[in-house]
Amino acid sequence: MKLNAYHKRRDFKKTTEPQGAGDSSSDIASDIFVVQKHHARNLHYDFRLAIDGVLKSWAVPKGPGLKPAEKRLAIMTEDHPLEYADFEGVIPEGEYGAGTVEIWDRGHFEPISDLATWEQKRKLEFVLHGAKLKGTWVLIGFKNDPKNWLLIKKQ
Ligand code: MN
Repeated sequence: MKLNAYHKRRDFKKTTEPQGAGDSSSDIASDIFVVQKHHARNLHYDFRLAIDGVLKSWAVPKGPGLKPAEKRLAIMTEDHPLEYADFEGVIPEGEYGAGTVEIWDRGHFEPISDLATWEQKRKLEFVLHGAKLKGTWVLIGFKNDPKNWLLIKKQ
């Protein structure tokens, strides 16, 4: 199942993060993005796009760039359940990702790239309609490096 890695890392008796139905039964719209500011050991921004019924996720240390051509490192992390888009709160000490999570921006995600092939092509272009993030961004994967991507704001 898609959320195996997500479930394996968490003890749902200890964290209040959503377990996720792992199917389409969630109330979360299937075409959203969310950016969560995560005050963990290192502050970062978790950038998540709803694709194929999960939130594809990247940790962006500096947060998404707001100026065209600004490149931001985006480290791909495990898929999260759609329900995670609503999550804010404190992940307890000792648990995976311990620290505070707050929603920094959220809105409609409009893909430009073909969602069937972006992972293979390692390029995903999209439009975000958020409160803070408005416009076109592209994620470009490093060559021979499945985890590391660049998130770049387009003109
Ligand atoms: Mn995080």
